[in-house]
Amino acid sequence: MNTLVMKFGGTSVGNADAIRHVARIVHAAQADWPQVVVVVSAMGGVTDMLLKGAHTAAEGDGETFRVLAGELRGKHYDTLNNLAKDLSSPVRWDEVRVWIASLVDEFETLCHAVYVLGEASARALDAISSLGERMSIQLVAPYLREAGIPAEPIEATELIVTDKNFQSANPISELTRSRTQARLFPLLENGIVPVVTGFIGATALGVVTTLGRGGSDFSAALLGVALDAREVWIWTDVDGVMTADPRIVAAAKTLPEITFREISELAYYGAKVLHPKTIRPVVERDIALWVKNTFNPSNPGTRVVSDDTAPHGTIRAVTAIRGQTMLNVEGRGMLGVPGVAARTFSAVARTHTSVSLITQASSEQSICFIVPSRAGPLVMDALNDEFRRELEQQNIDRIWAMENVVIITVVGAGMRHTPGIAGQIFSSLGKDRINVVAIAQGSSECSVSMIVDAPDAEKAVREIHKLIEMREG
Ligand code: ADP
Ligand code: ASP
Ligand code: MG
Repeated sequence: MNTLVMKFGGTSVGNADAIRHVARIVHAAQADWPQVVVVVSAMGGVTDMLLKGAHTAAEGDGETFRVLAGELRGKHYDTLNNLAKDLSSPVRWDEVRVWIASLVDEFETLCHAVYVLGEASARALDAISSLGERMSIQLVAPYLREAGIPAEPIEATELIVTDKNFQSANPISELTRSRTQARLFPLLENGIVPVVTGFIGATALGVVTTLGRGGSDFSAALLGVALDAREVWIWTDVDGVMTADPRIVAAAKTLPEITFREISELAYYGAKVLHPKTIRPVVERDIALWVKNTFNPSNPGTRVVSDDTAPHGTIRAVTAIRGQTMLNVEGRGMLGVPGVAARTFSAVARTHTSVSLITQASSEQSICFIVPSRAGPLVMDALNDEFRRELEQQNIDRIWAMENVVIITVVGAGMRHTPGIAGQIFSSLGKDRINVVAIAQGSSECSVSMIVDAPDAEKAVREIHKLIEMREG
């Protein structure tokens, strides 16, 4: 089918001018694509505000969410008033104002309930954080319509069916496919552009869920799959996937192409430019995936290409995830004792924490792994419980944590054919006296991760980036 799904992120709908860019981009795409679907995020910063309202209310603060409600109203009204200047129909804009007002009221009501209960359940957090996308479609769709593009706002609760894993819900593909097709095909066949909320879905019974922070990219992929789209374009605020986060490395360059495996590793290890769950669905269906810049649409951006493509270069990009804790289980008594690793990770799993990286010394005297810092204390307790007897008998000498570490990951499919890359990376870090605490190689062999102390992280990223610059230069 000749369907294009385009997703616009928070900055891309962050103010009236950005939404004007979106309208131009959608208009241009319609010249080449008979069927266009638009997915939008909440306006930049809005999801954080909504969650702040919920969390402060849960902590017994009955004021902050009311102040935030005023700010949310102001932000959306300002944008609306600005957009309304371009166009003629005051009636339509009055309707939008009523919509926004009712969604902000819903925010206040939900936060008040959280305040009274003194607790924000995952389900309540989803109901509250879904409001940002529900507001932004009410700005973007009418603006497109007034700009001459037939468009209709659609809440993805009507399309994306998920399980009940609130805050990180998993889509149910068959139901999502049938509901999405039933709801969107009639619009698409009539030349109407659905403007769909990113980030959110609903259980089969209609309870709102969210797909996880940054999940609007994933929404676009899910709709692409459900509609058998030919391409998915992720519009953001940089020229595409870059050799590093441009906020850390000023010399970062856009990569014209990146393989699925490379972008998967980059996304998984912290490159915010694409949500890690976005990639698998589109690879499986052979849907072309592009990352482009809303504010520089003439730049072609980055195309995500098949893993069979001959690898370009060696190190292609470097990324970092902050806010991690490294945990170590160690002891000579562990040597050769079966089951220590299994028990370690079962104990972690019971805390519902996901482990992002594991290394084990070949002597089996220590197991070292990384979890997000907020889960650190919980995991530490679980390990101490699990190995109480071994600790008493000193088969395990100690379980200890190193807080505030950063995972730095170097990505490049060509690395596996090139000896000596790891040596170059470590000597460049060594020169700068950056201490590498642990190392792991990605199973796909296209990434190497290093753990460094938080204060060294930015310097480490810049040093590694110099290796990329040297190769390019
Ligand atoms: P959106 O709201 O459009 O989804 P995000 O803020 O989620 O945008 O992602 C885009 C941001 O990702 C960029 O502004 C950039 O700072 C950051 N980023 C991190 N690593 C990379 C990278 N390797 N390439 C491009 N951008 C990156
Ligand atoms: N608005 C959501 C967030 O900030 C989803 C997204 O922007 O992708 O996490
Ligand atoms: Mg994002």
